[in-house]
Amino acid sequence: MDTPTNPIAPTSRWMAAARARESERVDRLFDDPLAAALSGPEGFAWLEHMESAARSDSPGLYPVIRTRFFDDFLLDACRRLGVRQVVLAAAGLDTRAFRLNWPPQVCLYEMDLPEVLDAKEEVIEAAGARASCERRTVRVDLSQETWPEALLDAGYQPERPSVWLIEGLLFYLPRAAVHGLLEKVGALTVTGSLLGLDVMNRGLFFSPVAWPMQAALARRGAPGRFGMNDPETLMARHGWEADVTQPGEEGANFGRWPRPMLPREVPGLPRSFLVRARRS
Ligand code: SAM
Repeated sequence: MDTPTNPIAPTSRWMAAARARESERVDRLFDDPLAAALSGPEGFAWLEHMESAARSDSPGLYPVIRTRFFDDFLLDACRRLGVRQVVLAAAGLDTRAFRLNWPPQVCLYEMDLPEVLDAKEEVIEAAGARASCERRTVRVDLSQETWPEALLDAGYQPERPSVWLIEGLLFYLPRAAVHGLLEKVGALTVTGSLLGLDVMNRGLFFSPVAWPMQAALARRGAPGRFGMNDPETLMARHGWEADVTQPGEEGANFGRWPRPMLPREVPGLPRSFLVRARRS
C-alpha cells in the first residue's frame, strides 16, 4: 500500500487507527492489539484529518460502533446458528480472525485488493499472530466479474450456509457496482445464510453538515458515491430480509453514542444504517 493503486485502499488504515485508539480505552468495546501496527502513521493521519474536517469524533466513533455491532453479529451466526463459513468482503485490515473467540471448524475468508492483503500479511507475520479459526485470504478486485471464482478456488462452499460482511465499502462504490456485488453475493449464498453491511443515506450527500468530510474524502480520491434511504428495499431486491439499525439505537449504542437518535421519518439528516439480513 506504499503507493496505492486504488484510492479507497488507504481508508482501511483509517479504520485500523480507529480500532487502535478504541483498544486503549478502559471501557473499550473490543481489543485489537494488531490495529496500531496495521494502521501505521498514515492511518492515524487519516483519522485526525477526517475528525478535524467533520468537526466531530464521528469518523472515529462510527467504525468503532460498527465493529462491535458486527463482531456480535458474526459470532452469533457461528455460535448460535452453527454457521461455519465467514466471508469478509473488503476485509481491509480487519483482525476478527485473530481477536474473536470462534467456535471450532470456522473458516474465515478475507477478500480485499492484493495491495491491502500483502501489507496486512507483513504486519501479521512480524507480530507472529495466530488466527483462532481457519483463515484464508483471497486477493481480488471486487469490481471484476471473476472474484467469485477466486473465492471458490480458496475452498468456499456455496451450497453450505455462510455469513457475509460488507463493511465500509458500499459508500465508495457507484450504484451499478453495489448492485453487481450484491447480485454475486446472492448467487453464492443459500437460504438461511446471513449478510451484514453498512450503508449511508442520501442525506449524507445533501446535508451541509456532511460536506466538509465529503470534500476531504474527494480530495483524497475516495469520494462517497452511494447512499440509500431505504436499505430494506435494496436488500429485498437482492433476496434478503433485512433488519436495519442506526448507530445509537438499541443494540448499536453500547453506552457510547453521544447524540439522541432521531427517527428515520425525520428528513434531511445524514444517517448511517447497520444492516443484518437473512437470505429469504
Ligand atoms: N471492512 C474493513 C473495515 O471495516 O475495517 C475495511 C473498510 S475500508 C473503509 C474499505 C476497504 O474496501 C479497503 O480495504 C479497500 O481496499 C476495499 N476495497 C475498495 N474497493 C475494492 C475493490 N474493488 N476490491 C476489493 N476491495 C476493495
